[in-house]
Formats: sequence, C-alpha cells, structure tokens
Amino acid sequence: MADYEPDCLFCRIAAGEIPADIVYSDDAVVAFRDINPRAPTHVLAIPRRHVPSAADLTEADGPMLAALFAALRNVAEEAGLHGYRIVSNVGAEAGQSVFHLHVHLLGGRAMSWPPG
Ligand code: 5GP
Ligand code: ZN
Repeated sequence: MADYEPDCLFCRIAAGEIPADIVYSDDAVVAFRDINPRAPTHVLAIPRRHVPSAADLTEADGPMLAALFAALRNVAEEAGLHGYRIVSNVGAEAGQSVFHLHVHLLGGRAMSWPPG
C-alpha cells in the first residue's frame, strides 16, 4: 500500500491539501481538531503514512505508534486535561468512517463507560 492514497481524506489533510485545525505535527504524526466535536476537546491523531486501521499495524510501526501516543499526551497536556479518553474505531461495525488510522482524544467533560 502506498504511503499516500490520493482518495484518502486524512492523507490529504496530512499533506496540507485539505485544511484542518492542526494542533500538533511532526515527521510521523499529525493531530487536528475533529470537525464534529463530541467533547470540549476532540482531537484526531493520525500517522502521516496511510494505514487503514489499527488492524493493519505491524511491528515495524512501533516507532510511529510511540510518536502517535507522545503526540496525544502532548495535546492533552496543552489542553490542560487531567483525564481524557483515547479510542480508535476499527471497521464500520465499530463506527469507523474514515479508513486512515486515527486515534480520537476526547476530554473536557465527564465520560461514561462503556461507549455506545
Ligand atoms: P471515525 O468515525 O472513523 O472513528 O472518526 C472519523 C472522524 O473524522 C469523525 O469524528 C468525523 O467527525 C471526523 N471528520 C470527518 N471528516 C473530517 C474532516 O474533513 N475534517 C476533520 N477535521 N474531521 C473530520
Ligand atoms: Zn490515508
């Protein structure tokens, strides 16, 4: 699979072709505000490289995942969050609607468990 898929919304956001409210960026990872926020802070962290979902990760993605989780921590700290939820939907049945791996960071309100 190519690193960049021209029909992929999040590949295009990572490439700067589609605007987004970017809150963190480095060589491997971009984080930006969700267009339809479900919490006062709702950010999506994605790898720059096209990976369809968490089910497509391999051991070689270890450094990228470390960068992804560091980005999430950075965004949470910048937002002053003391508690937050990180979640990644895998497959349409679980609610995945964009098939480029993304981790939701939700915070700024009380969370219920389990998610619906
Ligand atoms: P999923 O449903 O795949 O877990 O999450 C996809 C998320 O992407 C949704 O929360 C949705 O609001 C967000 N989203 C969809 N299109 C765009 C867009 O063009 N820009 C931004 N910033 N977020 C988007
Ligand atoms: Zn993509």
